[in-house]
Amino acid sequence: MKLRDIETKDEVLAILSETDPQAIEKIHKEAYDVKVENIGSKVYLRGLIELSNICIKNCLYCGIRKDNDHVHRYELSDKQVLEAAQFAWEAGYGSLVLQAGERISSEYVGKVTRLVREIKEISEGKLGISLSLGEQSRDVYREWFDAGAHRYLLRIESSNPELYSKIHPANNLHSWERRVQALKDLKEIGYQTGTGVMIGLPYQTLEDLADDLMFIKSMGIHMVGMGPYLTHSETPMGSLGITTTDLSLTLKMVAALRLLLPKINIAATTAMQVVDPEGREKAVLAGANIIMPNMTITEVRESYQIYENKPGIKDDAAISKTKLEMNLEKNGIEIGWGEWGDSRAFVRK
Ligand code: SAH
Ligand code: SF4
Repeated sequence: MKLRDIETKDEVLAILSETDPQAIEKIHKEAYDVKVENIGSKVYLRGLIELSNICIKNCLYCGIRKDNDHVHRYELSDKQVLEAAQFAWEAGYGSLVLQAGERISSEYVGKVTRLVREIKEISEGKLGISLSLGEQSRDVYREWFDAGAHRYLLRIESSNPELYSKIHPANNLHSWERRVQALKDLKEIGYQTGTGVMIGLPYQTLEDLADDLMFIKSMGIHMVGMGPYLTHSETPMGSLGITTTDLSLTLKMVAALRLLLPKINIAATTAMQVVDPEGREKAVLAGANIIMPNMTITEVRESYQIYENKPGIKDDAAISKTKLEMNLEKNGIEIGWGEWGDSRAFVRK
């Protein structure tokens, strides 16, 4: 099996199809080596602030979808967000992510613009800001970019339009084509652009997953966050009873992506930690280089459950930080404190 300089879907598919434990270990090791040779061994941290769980969408898999009446809806105040940003700054995270359900009101757009400016101000322009706030118009993306955000995460969820339509309601709020267009807009505006997929979705095949990685390559994406699909019992898809129980396919996806695109940033995501308590560390050892420690205040963590069994729900930002540091140290993984850790696949315009 070819592991270096892979380029084709068939080569990716061969990696994803591997079942021999020794061969899989070799794939992970090779992906780790390729990472170290191309972008170094450090892991970069992005403190995660879950700004709000209010959402206009109804993605069939997500626990905070609009129609889930069991969710207590919240939106953090400016003060709460800025306190979290201050924590990130003092902790040496280098960067933070503002994530939320999707909303499009002008008041909300203005709030995000204000927050981005203020975070830049309190950190003397040094704290990097990523946004993960769903699909927005080009003008809104531009407004937030001009305010100081420089990275945006918007997962394609699946590169297969047919599969996409099975996991989203049939209305024009949920359109695969629009999502692709949003990714193109983000790139054109100048964001370091991130996307990703869920792994182990109902109806998803290995071929779909190989196509996902080829999609990421063809779109010229700079950063990727992928993770196992996890059930939430209060969702239409959750009632299908299919859930992800092991991390092996996700780790193969991370390794294959690293071998395909040696220079991009790849996140070891929280969903990996749900399936395996050391899932994130294992992903780092299979080629990932970014971790997003949760900094959301404890009071609202319980309300931001896009999937069930989210870890650290009773923790605060400091506890999440200590636990992560301990786990990384145990695995001999070094942290790039205070560094942005920009994607080496990104060329500033
Ligand atoms: N509303 C924004 C950001 C929050 S959701 C957006 O949708 O882009 C962030 C990500 O959580 C989604 O892109 C999706 O890939 C992931 N997610 C949602 N529900 C999930 C589930 N049940 N299992 C695993 N990941 C899930
Ligand atoms: Fe809303 Fe994002 Fe969940 Fe979809 S995945 S329902 S857009 S929070």
